[in-house]
Amino acid sequence: MSIHRVGVIGWPIEHSLSPLMHNAAFAALGMKDWQYDRMAIPPDVLGHSIKELRNHDFVGINVTVPHKEAVMRYVQADNLAQVVGAVNTIDFRTGIGTNTDVSGFIDDLAAHGVTIKGARVVVLGAGGAARAVVYGLAQNGAEVAVVNRSLERALDLARTLLVPFRLMTLTEAADWGASLIVNCTSAGLQPNVSVTPWHEDVPFPKGVTLYDTIYRPARTSLMRQAEAASGQAINGTGMLVRQGAAAFKLWTGVEPPVEVMMDALLDALGGL
Ligand code: NDP
Repeated sequence: MSIHRVGVIGWPIEHSLSPLMHNAAFAALGMKDWQYDRMAIPPDVLGHSIKELRNHDFVGINVTVPHKEAVMRYVQADNLAQVVGAVNTIDFRTGIGTNTDVSGFIDDLAAHGVTIKGARVVVLGAGGAARAVVYGLAQNGAEVAVVNRSLERALDLARTLLVPFRLMTLTEAADWGASLIVNCTSAGLQPNVSVTPWHEDVPFPKGVTLYDTIYRPARTSLMRQAEAASGQAINGTGMLVRQGAAAFKLWTGVEPPVEVMMDALLDALGGL
């Protein structure tokens, strides 16, 4: 039996939960000839490694930190990946790299019944995750405001992301009447679980939905702030699952078993 190989590259990569998700999906669908591996690739051998994986008959790969931007030198990035400025999924059969973080985020909002069209949305952060989130929100009809700790990175986002959004201070964003706030900063990420990007001296707006792209820990300090202000709080587990599900569909052509992938991930996260 010849094996269809897929996987994820990063540096480091031990933390990645993608193999669990994808291999659980293959098992559930009886796809015994598919296998997903994690591969530690240092930055200085990225180009060579991409060539090797292609030559070793990999169908495709996911790409994670720190390679999402650099890998664009070695594959043909599609329009979406070019605008977002990052590739997280490659199909070696076509040589094309795309970005499934955008649909992963948008699909997960839809799964939670969160309306985007016409909504005012505040995005905290201006790094890689923010690029995908701001782009997805603006393309789906939201009015977006970005708040970032450093002005320089926020200005870079404004210069390079080809969708309209405003830049605000946290105080301005708190009074803007947003119905959704999305955390795309790494503030609060394990192990720094007491950190929050929402300063305690700025009141958190009442009854707002908070989407935290962080999934480790499952409940962040920021999520607690939103809940204390009578809002709904959602973590980033679903975004991770759905970006993976989109890659699965691209490589296999098979409808991904999203619930199976979600359960595999929640099991693993519960055990951490
Ligand atoms: P980047 O390093 O590209 O960006 C980090 C951002 O966080 C910057 O805007 C930075 O601000 C800000 N930041 C960091 N620390 C603080 C702090 N203490 N207070 C306020 N702002 C802070 O990271 P990524 O965009 O790749 O990742 C960001 C988050 O998104 C991570 O937590 C990651 O887990 C999550 N993520 C989740 C995904 C999912 O599928 N659920 C997918 C991808 C990412 P500054 O510019 O001032 O440094």
